[in-house]
Amino acid sequence: MIQLLPTRLQHMTWQYSLKDAITSPADITLLDTESRQFSPAAHGQFPLRVPPAFADLIDPDNPDDPLLRQVFPDVREDEPVAGFGADPLNEQDFQPAPGILHKYHGRVLLLLTAACAIHCRYCFRRHFPYSDSNPLNSHWPATLDYLRTHDDVREVIFSGGDPLMLDDEKLTVLVRDLETIPHLRRLRIHTRMPVAAPERINPEFIDLLAQSRLRPVVVVHVNHAQELGVPARRAIRALRNAGVTLLNQSVLLRAINDSAAVLVELSESLFELGVMPYYLHLLDPVAGAAHFRVDKATAKRLHTEIQKLLPGYLVPRLVREVAGFPNKQLLV
Ligand code: SF4
Repeated sequence: MIQLLPTRLQHMTWQYSLKDAITSPADITLLDTESRQFSPAAHGQFPLRVPPAFADLIDPDNPDDPLLRQVFPDVREDEPVAGFGADPLNEQDFQPAPGILHKYHGRVLLLLTAACAIHCRYCFRRHFPYSDSNPLNSHWPATLDYLRTHDDVREVIFSGGDPLMLDDEKLTVLVRDLETIPHLRRLRIHTRMPVAAPERINPEFIDLLAQSRLRPVVVVHVNHAQELGVPARRAIRALRNAGVTLLNQSVLLRAINDSAAVLVELSESLFELGVMPYYLHLLDPVAGAAHFRVDKATAKRLHTEIQKLLPGYLVPRLVREVAGFPNKQLLV
C-alpha cells in the first residue's frame, strides 16, 4: 500500500517533488559535461528534466547508465538525420478538433497537457505544438460534444505530455463529465508517472479511478527494470490493489534495452507487480533521436530471442507506428 500521509501533505508532495526536478546536467552525473557530450542546443530545444525519484536510480559514475542515457541531452541530437522529423506520425493530420486524436476505431485520445514530469530524449512528441492543441484551453465543451456525437467510441485515452501532470481536481472534473456519456465504457491513462514521480499516485487519484463507472486502464511506460525502484513498485502495487488494469509499453532503445537479458528482466519484473507487457515500440523517427534507433532486423531477432525465454503472455507485441496508417503495424 502507498504510505498514508495527511491528504494535504500528499497533495503537496508530488507537486513539490516536481519542483525539485533536476534541470542542470551537472546535477545528474558526476562526469563532466564535456566527456558526457552534453549538447546545450538539445537542452535548449527540449530541456533536461528529471524528477528526484528517477534521478535516485541513476548511477552518477556510470556514463552508460540506461536511465541516464534516456534523459541526458546528447550532442548526437544536433545531427540532422534523413527520415527523422518534427512530427514523425503526422499526428496533426488526425486532429478533428484541438487536442483530439481520432486515429483508431472506438477510441479517442485526448492530449490534455504539454507538461511531463520527465523529459525522455526519444519522445516522439518532443516537437509537438501542444499549446495549440490542449483541449482544456476552453476546448473542453467542444471535446465533450465530439465524444457525445460519436457513439461508436467506447474508450477515452488521456495522454499528453503526461496527463497526470493535471491535479486531482481537474482530473475529477474531466472524469465526471466523461461518465455522463453513456456509450463510453473505459478510461485509459498513458503515463510515465509511476516510475518518473511515483508520489503522484496518491490516494485521491486512486479513489478517482476506483470509484469511476468507467473501467480504468493505466498504461505505464517503463523501458528498463532499473526504473522500478521501491517508490515505483509501491505506486504500481497501489494501482493494482485498487483493481486498475495495468499494461506496460516500452520503446526499444539502442544501448538501453536492446538485449534479450534486459527485456526478459523487464517483463519478469513488471509481471511481479501485476503489469502485463503490452507493446515494445520501434522508435518513432523523431528529429534528435536517431542515435537511439534499433533497426527492424535487430528488433525482430531480439523479439524471437525473448520468445524463447519467456512464456507467451510475458512477450510484448513488437510494433511500430507508421504515419498515415490507422493501426499500429505488428512486426512479427
Ligand atoms: S513522459 Fe512520455 S510524453 Fe513525456 S517526454 Fe517521456 S515519453 Fe514523452
